[in-house]
Amino acid sequence: MRIASVILDIPTQALDCAYSYLVPDGCDGCEDYAPLPPIHAGNEQDVAQLPDSFDVCVGCAVLVPFGGRQVVGFVARIEECEYGELPDGVNPVKLKPIIRAVSRPYFDEEGAACIFWMANRYVAPLAACARLFAPPGGVPRVVRTCGESGPYWRLEQPAIGEVDDRWVLPGPSYTGFEPKHNAVKQAAIVSALCSGDVRVAELATEFGAVSAALKSLEKQGVVRIERRRRMRGVSASRQAPIPEAPFTPSAKPPLTAGQATSLAAIDAARKRARGEVVLVDGVTGSGKTEVYLQAIEAALAAGHTACVLVPEISLTPQTVARFRGRFGDTVAVMHSRMSRGERFDQWDFIRSGQARVVVGARSALFAPLRNVGIIVIDEEHEGSYKQDSAPRYHARDVACWMARRAGAVVVLGSATPSIETLYACAKCDGWNRVSLPERANGKPLPEIDVIDMAKEFGSGSRSMFSGRLTRALAAELVCGRKAVLLLNQRGFAKFLLCRECGFVPECPSCSTSLTFHETGNKLVCHHCGYTVPSPPVCPRCASPYLKRFGAGTQRVEAELRALLDAMPGVGPGVPIVRMDADTTSGKGAHQRLLEQFAAADAAVLLGTQMIAKGLDFDDVTLVGVINADTQLHLPDYRAAERTFALIEQVAGRAGRANLPGRVMVQTYEADNVALRAAARYDRALFLRNELPKRRMLGYPPYVRMANVLVWGNDESAVAYEARVLQEALEQQVRDFGGDNWMVLPAGPCLLSKLRGSYRWHVVVKCPLEADISRVIEPLFRARKAYKAINVAVDVDPSDLL
Ligand code: ADP
Ligand code: ZN
Ligand code: ZN
Repeated sequence: MRIASVILDIPTQALDCAYSYLVPDGCDGCEDYAPLPPIHAGNEQDVAQLPDSFDVCVGCAVLVPFGGRQVVGFVARIEECEYGELPDGVNPVKLKPIIRAVSRPYFDEEGAACIFWMANRYVAPLAACARLFAPPGGVPRVVRTCGESGPYWRLEQPAIGEVDDRWVLPGPSYTGFEPKHNAVKQAAIVSALCSGDVRVAELATEFGAVSAALKSLEKQGVVRIERRRRMRGVSASRQAPIPEAPFTPSAKPPLTAGQATSLAAIDAARKRARGEVVLVDGVTGSGKTEVYLQAIEAALAAGHTACVLVPEISLTPQTVARFRGRFGDTVAVMHSRMSRGERFDQWDFIRSGQARVVVGARSALFAPLRNVGIIVIDEEHEGSYKQDSAPRYHARDVACWMARRAGAVVVLGSATPSIETLYACAKCDGWNRVSLPERANGKPLPEIDVIDMAKEFGSGSRSMFSGRLTRALAAELVCGRKAVLLLNQRGFAKFLLCRECGFVPECPSCSTSLTFHETGNKLVCHHCGYTVPSPPVCPRCASPYLKRFGAGTQRVEAELRALLDAMPGVGPGVPIVRMDADTTSGKGAHQRLLEQFAAADAAVLLGTQMIAKGLDFDDVTLVGVINADTQLHLPDYRAAERTFALIEQVAGRAGRANLPGRVMVQTYEADNVALRAAARYDRALFLRNELPKRRMLGYPPYVRMANVLVWGNDESAVAYEARVLQEALEQQVRDFGGDNWMVLPAGPCLLSKLRGSYRWHVVVKCPLEADISRVIEPLFRARKAYKAINVAVDVDPSDLL
């Protein structure tokens, strides 16, 4: 008989385990159950039918009995065993059969292994890890429904599934067919077919109702009607079946010496098949992407597939075009700005084995791509590679695990690699670093000037634009060139402050000050969306002297507009393109703004962090950072590292082509080492200053950490639970940890109140080589969940806010 381990897909706070079930012989269900409803996918002619039955196999969703009802689970393993030789802990009396499979497999044995590894490593529920592998659009669920004879449980398939189009093709009697002279529609259809197969939907748009005409033609054998799978979000000319048209890959430039060395290092590592990592440590514009492209080409030639992760924000049509240009229609793309239907189709395209290269954001790692030979993580220092809900995984760590299992190579690329990665390259076996110190076109990196705003203020200037930045803007714009201005918004936004009593309006649900918004004159909480009209006088002391502190992008835009309008030779004709969370929220907005900027002659792009990445405009000659230091004030161990990286990244936007670029960084802390080092592209200086601090204070890369978060509405209950957990963790660490383990006292988080919840945390630190999950996981696996109190474990957290 066959025994399956099934991960139940039920939300529980307690960590789960896999349950054993008997795999039924044959695939018939053995209990009565409401029949599978068809997938409903929007419009009727799109409906595709699910197969009547699926086989029970690893990776598929199944329906199983559990505690008197039926639930959905995922098969993680199937073992063949003799009667009387059940796996440990399985009670033959209690062993129940799986009712039936309700989906195709989502993952294979390797995926199952990854689920168990992640659940342990990130102290996360198995079901949350399994769901990473599910197709976009979700998994089948059991829902309670009211029927005529009372409520019953019903299986509901996800609303998103595959869609078919009905196509009209010439039939056996097509040639020589003459429609009757009054059969106008038949004639129209027949002539439409001259230029190839057409979709029923297209005929209907053109000629109105065509079903009667089609039926008649079909009966006479003049046409055939065929269902064909449609790929949403893909232009009609590229619909399946994939055209056989010869594909000409984009031209490959001759590699620079650095690129050639990098490529050789990656190829060699891939051929050793030991799951090694190669860091391509290359300045902005050094041609890292070309290295990825050629490394992928080599992997494909060796019969492997490739997975490329890109930060969501740089996953633009241009990025995709570079991969499609080289690998054509075998490239699948997955990112969150696509509709769920489009993502489903891409996922299914990968599952079908036709896709050879996947380009996507973090979660593309879990796409059903088989036989991966190379995993590329571009801009590996990016914070978005860490997921901030369970499982709180880091894509880099998961990729390394996968590569070790598969004997693939991991390629990390960045101009500002994370300190962890640099450390691993220096210390760990199997981590290799190659560098590209120069731009591919041989142009120098732009010079970076640090402008001391305290001095400007001291000499009487009240503008947020220093004299030097203003003069530089004028000089560039007058010549019809472009500028990019960055407003560093992390940990910085405009808020109200009473000059008389010091009062700052705060969100009643989150312990953060409210941000002032010019539009609508209102105060908004950026965590929970709470909005109130801006008060005319101080709510505490009634003083009218409420000053607006800080500057949001809107206000900077207004001031910049005034500045440009007054500039001789510039004036109102020069557009300002503003890019921030407000202006980029709509679908395609991000892209549209970039196009607007690209199309203009002289123009200024003003934006938040999102502009620091990937922009590649030839005519940007000036980059200004309006406030470089705000992030430094964030009380987080990674603040300096993030500031350093941000300056280097944003500087990389200037002078990419023939025109030289320059960069101006405004700050009130001109002496700060991270800033000074960034201005000289001097990473060694930055690290010489930063690493001893990290070592002394006990932060990565010298230790590993786990941040245990506790939150809920009742502050004292949260505090109590955090202290209980602290004691339990201390015990666990005493029993199973070792020397140099540490549990810090429970305390409120820096963001102590967020969306109405009080937040506390307990930080555990251990030596770098210790297995922190092994020691703390049993505590959480066994822990009973309480409704009112949430607990989350963040292993290797990227910040402690
Ligand atoms: P990075 O990803 O390192 O910032 P890119 O891959 O975007 O750099 O390359 C920057 C520019 O240099 C691109 O316009 C690219 O087409 C060009 N480029 C890359 N490699 C070469 C090369 N070997 N010779 C000439 N141009 C190159
Ligand atoms: Zn006041
Ligand atoms: Zn709030």
